[in-house]
Amino acid sequence: MQILTEIMELKTNNRVEIIDITRSVDAALAESRLRKGLVNIYSKHSTSAIFINENESGLLEDYLNLIDKLVPTDDNYRHDQIDNNADSHLRSFIIGNNETVPFENGSMDLGTWQSVFFLDMDGPRNRKITITIMGE
Ligand code: ZN
Repeated sequence: MQILTEIMELKTNNRVEIIDITRSVDAALAESRLRKGLVNIYSKHSTSAIFINENESGLLEDYLNLIDKLVPTDDNYRHDQIDNNADSHLRSFIIGNNETVPFENGSMDLGTWQSVFFLDMDGPRNRKITITIMGE
């Protein structure tokens, strides 16, 4: 078994932004030349998230509306006294910062309607995602 690591760099343009990174992850898998294994997609930030779901334009808005409802932008958060982004941390905390997906023959074994997303909740920023490929 081999373990390979690649850093994916992303630049976001808005405070809250969803980016479909499925093709970039598959490109890293194809480049690795590993045939079968697991890939972990890990965001190295505490105000962003990684998730898997459907890339449909209405649903992309629904995700953002839901996190707005669950974690309002302003709610007398204590962290806002030192850094005005408590909502971003709390949204990241409930969604999670990584996903692990099985792969075979150079691409992730995702369902037909599944994509891998990076969600920035405190942009615009330069972001780094670690892709760890474990396989043979
Ligand atoms: Zn903060």
